[in-house]
Amino acid sequence: MASIFTKIVNGEIPSYKVAENERFYAFLDINPLAKGHTLVIPKQETDYIFDLQPDDLGELMKFAQKVAVALKKTIACNRIGVAVLGLDVPHAHIHLVPLNSEADMNFRNPRKEFSKEEFEAIAEQIRSNF
Ligand code: AMP
Repeated sequence: MASIFTKIVNGEIPSYKVAENERFYAFLDINPLAKGHTLVIPKQETDYIFDLQPDDLGELMKFAQKVAVALKKTIACNRIGVAVLGLDVPHAHIHLVPLNSEADMNFRNPRKEFSKEEFEAIAEQIRSNF
C-alpha cells in the first residue's frame, strides 16, 4: 500500500508544497515544531532513509540544502536544524526545522497550530525564496 507521503506526491491528499523537482518534494509538516517546519522526501517511496542508494541519499540532501536556504531566508531564526526520525511515516523524509535554541528541536514539544490560510502563506513565502 502506498505511504501517506506517496499519496501527497501523487496529489491524492493535499499538502502545502514548498519546493519540487523531478525526484524530490518538500512540504510543510502538518504538526510543526516551528513555523516553517518542512519535510523533504524522495518521490520514489523507500521506507528507511539509510536504505537509499548512496547517490540518491546525496541528491536528497542536496535538494534539502536548497530548501533550507530558502527556509532560512523566509523564517527569522538562528539555524535550520536537520533531523531524521521516520518512526511514524514509513517513507524516508528529512525534517528541516527553524531553530533559535536547542530546545526547539525537541520532538516532544507541543506542536504549533496554524490555520489553512497561515500554512498557505508560509509555503508561498518559502516557494518564492526557493
Ligand atoms: P516521523 O516519521 O517520526 O519523522 O514523523 C512523521 C512526521 O510527518 C510528523 O512530524 C508529522 O507531523 C508529519 N506528517 C504526518 N502526516 C502528514 C501530512 N499528511 N502532511 C504533512 N506532514 C505530515
